[in-house]
Amino acid sequence: MTSSPPQAQPAPRRSLWGPGPGDRLRTPRVLFQAHLAAPLPSGPDLVLVTDLDGTLLEGALPTRRRVYDWLASQRHRVLHVFCTGRDLRSVARLLAEQAAVGLRAPHLVIGDVGCTVACGTTLIPLPLALEPIEALWQGRAERVLPLLAGMPGLSPHPLSADRRLAYGIDPRRLDTSRLAAVEAHGVDWLVSGDKYLDILPAGVNKGSTLLGLLEWLELEEALVVTAGDSLNDLAMFETGLQSVMVGNAEPGLVRALPGLARTYRSRAHGCDGILDGLRHFGFGHLFDGLL
Ligand SMILES: [Mg+2]
Repeated sequence: MTSSPPQAQPAPRRSLWGPGPGDRLRTPRVLFQAHLAAPLPSGPDLVLVTDLDGTLLEGALPTRRRVYDWLASQRHRVLHVFCTGRDLRSVARLLAEQAAVGLRAPHLVIGDVGCTVACGTTLIPLPLALEPIEALWQGRAERVLPLLAGMPGLSPHPLSADRRLAYGIDPRRLDTSRLAAVEAHGVDWLVSGDKYLDILPAGVNKGSTLLGLLEWLELEEALVVTAGDSLNDLAMFETGLQSVMVGNAEPGLVRALPGLARTYRSRAHGCDGILDGLRHFGFGHLFDGLL
């Protein structure tokens, strides 16, 4: 008996996530929703994924107020995700501070540069999403901390340490060639905004976690627009999802633009750039007449 050669299968989309063996009877979306305090829009017209500093928090104040009001009034049709380097404590402080200008909690938060996923309303982390990231981070901090201790140009202690290490940096003193040594310990490093160094579990970033989230929620990629301004947003742009690089983007991110097939470079800053980008990708009808 002859056997035919195996058919070439398309490579599966890379995702860290998947339902566990006991979860077969419930769809991933249902499992995920069960951990959220507020319902997600059942058939959103747009999934807007925004970085915070330099993006959703930037732009002319009147535009910011209009965008925040629009997001608050369109929660049933615009699924909003914060995708930030901030940790959850910092996001909570920010929401309290910015309430006066109308910023409201999103549906979901991707924090810690992709290492945390939480309910936007409660800011309680979602175990389904965190477990695979925790597994990749297990034991990494212990190995990497001694290599970074006392390195010139780094803050003396990590500023944040939830499934990653975040340091403040002095870019003039930090010799990034010395960071190659940490990669042997199963981590990636990322300098962004000339302000921060992040040590992340290998392969985890804003882009990988966003793709995992879209898979769980069974959301169509054509409905997604991401927006960002710094190098920690590059992984999000590299997913190939429709993306907006705002006008105030850092020079290193702008240099990457030619390699980003679906990233639109807006001249407008922050929220003004987000609106410009949404119009560019054909979502202007969602806010025309409402802003
Ligand atoms: Mg930013």
